[in-house]
Amino acid sequence: MKIKSAEFVISNSDVSKCPETRLPEYAFIGRSNVGKSSLINALTNRKDLAKTSGRPGKTQLINHFLINQSWYLVDLPGYGYARVSKTAKKTFQKFITQYFEKREQMICAFVLIDSRHKPQPIDMEFMSWLGEHQVPFCIIFTKADKMKPKALERNINDYQAEMLKTWTEMPQFFVTSSANGMGSEDVLNYIQNINDNLLPQK
Ligand code: GDP
Repeated sequence: MKIKSAEFVISNSDVSKCPETRLPEYAFIGRSNVGKSSLINALTNRKDLAKTSGRPGKTQLINHFLINQSWYLVDLPGYGYARVSKTAKKTFQKFITQYFEKREQMICAFVLIDSRHKPQPIDMEFMSWLGEHQVPFCIIFTKADKMKPKALERNINDYQAEMLKTWTEMPQFFVTSSANGMGSEDVLNYIQNINDNLLPQK
């Protein structure tokens, strides 16, 4: 997919105020500092469409970006950041879950996982929640450039093994790096393929 246009539309913390549209949307979510903003910028080939965070936990809003006038990329708040107060955490957890429960045009959630780390309970719990609520999702492993190829492969294999303890199959996954662009095209083509089957051909 070639990105011809990418524009910020609206930020909010209330799912009922998200754009009223039937365009398909794809949500990006993960632990704070996982590399979500960098990935969104890499995917859209923009330097600062999503604000990379000096201070993680800052962007506790649902951000809608319109891509190629045909689909929305949705930047959801990072979860699991310790410096956010318990109340704030609860609030954004609630609107994240409301977003997934209510947003019918949400086609696929991309759950971002730092490829350097062992499986973390909070990510596992979040994916279980998605599964229980029948929310389709993929995994995007981030920061692949920070690992040597063998270690990266080992980590991804270990992750799969951990997932297969509770899931009958590994979800679709992508290995990416915002630093060198690895995997971006695969993610965009995946989205394009779905969109082609959803939208009338022009
Ligand atoms: P967010 O909090 O999930 O939006 O994470 P950011 O995109 O702000 O990234 C957090 C930190 O990781 C920043 O210092 C980024 O420069 C760094 N980072 C993000 N993605 C990559 C990547 O693919 N490779 C490398 N080497 N660093 C990355």
